[in-house]
Amino acid sequence: MTIIKAVRGTRDLLPAETALWNRIETTARQVFARYNFGEIRTPLFEDTALFARSVGEETDIVSKEMYTWEDRARAQSEKTQSLTLRPENTAGVVRAYIEHGLGESGQLQKLYYIGPQFRRERPQKGRYRQFSQIGAEVIGPPSSGSESPLRDAEVLEMLATLLDELGITGWTLELNSVGSAADRARYNDALRAALAPVVGQMCVDCQRRAVTNPLRVLDCKVPADQPIIDTLPVIADSLDGASRAHFAAVTAALDAAGVAYTLNHRLVRGLDYYTRTTFEFTHGGLGAQNALLGGGRYDGLSEAIGGPKAPGIGFAMGEDRLVLTLQALESAQKLLKADAFIASLGETLNPAALALARELRQAGLRIELGEGSFRLKKSFEAADKSARAIVILGEDELQSGILTVKTFSTGAQTKVPRAELAAFLNNGSQV
Ligand code: ATP
Ligand code: MG
Repeated sequence: MTIIKAVRGTRDLLPAETALWNRIETTARQVFARYNFGEIRTPLFEDTALFARSVGEETDIVSKEMYTWEDRARAQSEKTQSLTLRPENTAGVVRAYIEHGLGESGQLQKLYYIGPQFRRERPQKGRYRQFSQIGAEVIGPPSSGSESPLRDAEVLEMLATLLDELGITGWTLELNSVGSAADRARYNDALRAALAPVVGQMCVDCQRRAVTNPLRVLDCKVPADQPIIDTLPVIADSLDGASRAHFAAVTAALDAAGVAYTLNHRLVRGLDYYTRTTFEFTHGGLGAQNALLGGGRYDGLSEAIGGPKAPGIGFAMGEDRLVLTLQALESAQKLLKADAFIASLGETLNPAALALARELRQAGLRIELGEGSFRLKKSFEAADKSARAIVILGEDELQSGILTVKTFSTGAQTKVPRAELAAFLNNGSQV
């Protein structure tokens, strides 16, 4: 009999990997909570028209990557309907925002989601047909302040914080503005004019895009086209006063908060709904699929799918790519391992060890509790596998209140007073 395997582009995640996934999701939920976001869960499939109207017919996602089927009517009361597995989650969130009248409260809505998305792409490292995104949206009626550039800056600052807390070092924030719908129309005209004499030398995709949606030419990855693309006009020159002022306010707030970014004129993003601020966080460790996350402002999206005016900004991070990045970084250990392993020297010290573990856990630390029947060597082996440090608790330590801590990454052995132990384990023994 032939063996049935997981479908190409899909994967099983076994416990060794799910540990990292769970840590990422827990950290994300904690950071979102600090910025006062609430979770939203939308269906895995939606009416196909939702994606066609929001993401855009001419995008790669809608034109070639969606899993779409005709859902046959099962009863006279039902209609045959075209359905699609969600390729992204912003459209579903904005549909839900409209459907539940979330804007009617007048409050800014801050929503996050974590879950699978589906795209029929060529599977490769960091690119799957079922993948998971962690994303968030800030959306509301204009009276809620949803149009403010401070919202853009706050979302970007939150992302910088989240990546830092995940232990992802070495990321780059790339930033651009694609302006308003009117700015983009002007820019598309400028691009059409500039492309007319040269497009004949470009790839077939660009020849098509030059007619249907010239902005998409900037996404082209074909090496031979790059020198031509470098000579095209940049969108910054097509922005009106209001779009320029918005972008300047975003960068000023980022400067004040100390969030570093680089400007990238070609960052127009693969979805049609973006307006003004667009961004990506990239990481060198990922190779060809180097985008950890992407996002931007979408002031006209709600209206494009029949809703009220509801400006917004959001992002989606590829959770699979966060995992890949972390697996390649030393700092992944910090996410996977307990902060300390407590080794009591002898069973009589077990109760004192439990009391110490309770103290440290109450201080927010992740603690693994050893067992006093272990010989010290066995405790060290167990600790090395499960924790970043070992705390030794013997009769002397208990009496003196000075504990011996060994940090595995450095091999350093330190005497730490009990009152300072939590702070030491938090900061002093970073991986
Ligand atoms: P790319 O240029 O890598 O195709 P994209 O512009 O299609 O990205 P978005 O639609 O902005 O990606 O999705 C946001 C994030 O989701 C990406 O930055 C990436 O981390 C992740 N992502 C997108 N497609 C996939 C996929 N097929 N497999 C894994 N992760 C993905
Ligand atoms: Mg893509």
